[in-house]
Parts: sequence; structure tokens; C-alpha cells
Amino acid sequence: MERIDGKKKIADFMVKEQQTYEFKIKYAAIRAREFVEECEKRGLNYHVSVGGLDSITLYYFLRSIGIEAQGISVSYLEDISIQKVHRELGLIRLKSVQKADGTYWNKSSVLNEFGFPVLSKEIASKIETLANPTEKNKTVRHAIVTGETGEYGGFQKNSRMKMSQKWLEKFGGYSNEEEGTAYQIPCFKVSSKCCYYLKEKPCDDWAKQNKSVPFLGLMASEGGRRAKSLRLNGCNYFGKSTVRSAPFAIFNRQDLLQLTLDLNVPVPEIYGTIERKEDGTLYTTKAQRTGCSMCGFGIHLEKRPHRFDQLRERNPKEWHYWMYECCEDKQGNKYGWGKVLDYIGVRWENRPEDIQVSGQLEMDLGN
Ligand code: SF4
Repeated sequence: MERIDGKKKIADFMVKEQQTYEFKIKYAAIRAREFVEECEKRGLNYHVSVGGLDSITLYYFLRSIGIEAQGISVSYLEDISIQKVHRELGLIRLKSVQKADGTYWNKSSVLNEFGFPVLSKEIASKIETLANPTEKNKTVRHAIVTGETGEYGGFQKNSRMKMSQKWLEKFGGYSNEEEGTAYQIPCFKVSSKCCYYLKEKPCDDWAKQNKSVPFLGLMASEGGRRAKSLRLNGCNYFGKSTVRSAPFAIFNRQDLLQLTLDLNVPVPEIYGTIERKEDGTLYTTKAQRTGCSMCGFGIHLEKRPHRFDQLRERNPKEWHYWMYECCEDKQGNKYGWGKVLDYIGVRWENRPEDIQVSGQLEMDLGN
């Protein structure tokens, strides 16, 4: 951080995040054009990686300033209403990674084979490492359970590698014998590989084949893993292994929704419509954000009605499949996210005590 003057870069970026909508739109246009110029100098093509409303708006925005970037998407992972817009936009619709037998990975085959994407990518990856012990990952496993990094990590004691105590209790049991602990082992697999097989690799492969680098609809204000790197590296990044442009990096949700309105972007039905509260705040009347309907990353942090509740309301059949049927154990018994959510203490059924939590759930029960 010090060497690259990271603190100053982050502070400068955050000042831009406080600017007006008009400033941000001009800024985004300048950064996008700069990115295109730099790509042309380097002999690179560029494309837009399109998913939900943010990146659909980015696709429209780039066209509005004369940048005709090809849109690509692993569209089938998105809600049906988003897929409809993708089709109208004429995006290149990619498939997930192909297996050795010629079939393609899909959501349930990834869950069955590798495990559930739950809690966060980082935690899921740690659990996966614990569950798949090798001599090579011994030091890492020890660090995940104890925080001690050993010689390779400079003999740190309380390193950030340690998984939080709450999740160690639930998932740390794979190392009980080695560590002398008495943690639990879940009766389902956990994995962080889902995105890679379903989204990341197909997009990366397409990009490589087409010598193309992406425009992404990321905003630092949305937080998450990428917020820090956006603030540190700015909108355009030409690294050794990563090249990308995120012209909306300094936007907040209000800026994004305002631009969606200004550009007459078609809003997929899953979001409802964009309306304004009395105080002027813009909001979408249905989903605020989307993603794969059955993803478990971040689910433990959501209030009810959480994404699975919302899926139940939208599509009870699909909900039933993901909650009860998407996986099969060795005895041939079907199970799904219900088991996972129970295990991590996330409520998902409509028990009487849950009904008081949300008016929407009351409606769901027909009360
Ligand atoms: S967002 Fe979640 S469910 Fe979708 S591909 Fe990534 S890990 Fe899988």
C-alpha cells in the first residue's frame, strides 16, 4: 500500500464518489474513451460483460457516447426477464464450461460435484481447502483453523487467514484430528468454484479467443471484494494479468438509476419499475439487486424476505427445486439449499414466528 501510495489513491477516489451526478457522467465518459484509446494502441478489442441492470445500463451508456462494444453474457444464469432483455440487445450468449463428456456444467451439477456457494467466496474457499486436505495445503489449513501462518507466512499468530470462530464451529471439523479440535463437519459440500465454472471461465475464454478486454458495470459504493481494488486502481486498469474498465466505479445506486432513466434503458421485470420516494430517492419497486437466484454468497447477512423468500414469491416451483431437490446424497435422497440454510442458521420456511417478520411473507401464506 505504501509503495503505491494506496491511501492517497483511495482518498482521492472517494472524493470523486462524492461529486455530482453530472460530474460523474462526464467522468465516466472520459474514462471509457481513454480505455478504448489505450486498447486500440495495444491492439486489444473490448466488450461489455452484461448481467443485471447495472451492466445493461453500462451497455446503453457506452453506445450513447459512441462506443460500440460487443455485449457478452452467460445469460441463462440470470432471471428470465433479464434474459429477455439480453436477447433484445443481441448479446453473445455464452454457455458455461464444457465437461470432458461434452455436456456443460450447470448450477445443480456444480452444487453436486463441488458444493454450495455459501457465506462468501473467501469463506467457501477456506472450507473447501479444509475439506480437501493434501500435504501441500497443510500450512494453509493450519492457518485457517488457528491463524498461525508458520515459517512461510512469517510466523504470524493471529493472521487474517483464520476463519471466524462462528464458522469454524460449523465447518472446521475436517481438521479435528490434526488440530485436536471438536468442530462440526457439515453434511453437504461447500465450494467457491461455482462462479468459475458457470461464469468466469466462459467469459475469460471468450475474451482470450477474441483478444478482448471487458467493460464492467462495477461500482465501489456497492462494497464487496472489489470495492477496495476499484478505489485503489481506479476506473481503468491495465495490469499484467487483468485489464478492465469500470466507468461507473465512482457511481452510487442513485446515479445508476438516474442514468437508467435518462437513457431509457429497458428495466427487466424482476426489478419492477424505477420510482421516486417523497424525498427524491430513486428505487426499484421489486428486486434491488439480482444475481443467480440460488446463490448463497452473503445470504447470512440478508434480512427477510431474503433472496430465497423472494424467489419463492416469484417462482414457487423453482424455489421448491432449489430448496429440496437440486442435489442427491449417496443414498439417492434429494436435498437442497434448505439443508444448507438450516445448518448456517438462516430461516427460510414460513414458520409462525417468521410470519411476523415480514408483511410479504404473510401475503405469501395468503393471510
Ligand atoms: S453468483 Fe453464486 S450462484 Fe451464480 S455463478 Fe457465482 S457463485 Fe454460482
